[in-house]
Amino acid sequence: MEIINRRKRMSSVARKLRREQDRSIGLVPTMGALHEGHLSLVREARRMCDVVVVSVFVNPTQFGPDEDFNRYPRDLTKDTAILTDYNVDYIFAPPPEEIYPKGFASYITVEGLSDQMEGIARPGHFRGVATVVSILLNVVRPDFAFFGQKDAQQAVIIKRLVRDLAFNTEIIVLPTVREDSGLAMSSRNLYLSADERQAATVIHRALAKAKEGFKEGERNANRLAELVKSIIETEPRARLDYVNVSDAETLEKIDKIEDQPVLIAVAVSFGKTRLIDNTTLNSSKKKEATTLA
Ligand code: AMP
Repeated sequence: MEIINRRKRMSSVARKLRREQDRSIGLVPTMGALHEGHLSLVREARRMCDVVVVSVFVNPTQFGPDEDFNRYPRDLTKDTAILTDYNVDYIFAPPPEEIYPKGFASYITVEGLSDQMEGIARPGHFRGVATVVSILLNVVRPDFAFFGQKDAQQAVIIKRLVRDLAFNTEIIVLPTVREDSGLAMSSRNLYLSADERQAATVIHRALAKAKEGFKEGERNANRLAELVKSIIETEPRARLDYVNVSDAETLEKIDKIEDQPVLIAVAVSFGKTRLIDNTTLNSSKKKEATTLA
């Protein structure tokens, strides 16, 4: 395994693998502090691709001025040890000036999709995400890039970006990995105290109840959102930012749930830590439809 810090080196290694050796490349973009959620992506990349590149880059442009960029957990030594065990071929861990050289002035905005939910709470966040992902895709030119459903809005935005700007990469989105308690794995869980971590399990319980309600026939999006809200409010440590029931592809809010895939997304703070999570409804219907077509 090689750790690459320079954008030029990463480009030339990837170009060689593609052109001279005709090898398929899978890219797993991360901000490090790796956990099982990241590793599920690495595992799938390993299964699908000849060569696996994991990028580890805490991207400054996706953090707001009052956010946790400086205290975001970083441990490249530990991440490297983990990725060695997973037979990853390259770690791309550039310093910020390699991604954003002096005079950097070109940003990507995915309009509309970026203006709601996390986009409202974190202005500029998705501009930073879309920009860094575009740079990573241009440097590595992977056949496949792997993302987690945990960050559902991000996954939708990246799929749209790749389609709109004709990147030659297929985006693979994999399910959210959870702890036994139901808490979605996240590098930010490291910030939680033991009490907060326990309290945060309410998020998954609330989302699971909404899914159950849907299975029992509830089709009113507002009532499902109210159900999620009421369960989260039973936890005194939880401060709910939003519950959003939307079309899973357009992210447009919906009132009545029919056959379309639906996303129920929440953001909840515990102390200083803001967590996001989601569940989907009707998501297998589309797959069935695709299979039938
Ligand atoms: P991050 O390091 O938080 O930027 O995450 C890197 C990638 O891992 C993103 O595509 C995330 O959606 C994905 N990811 C993070 N947590 C999880 C999880 N619990 N399950 C599945 N994927 C995840």
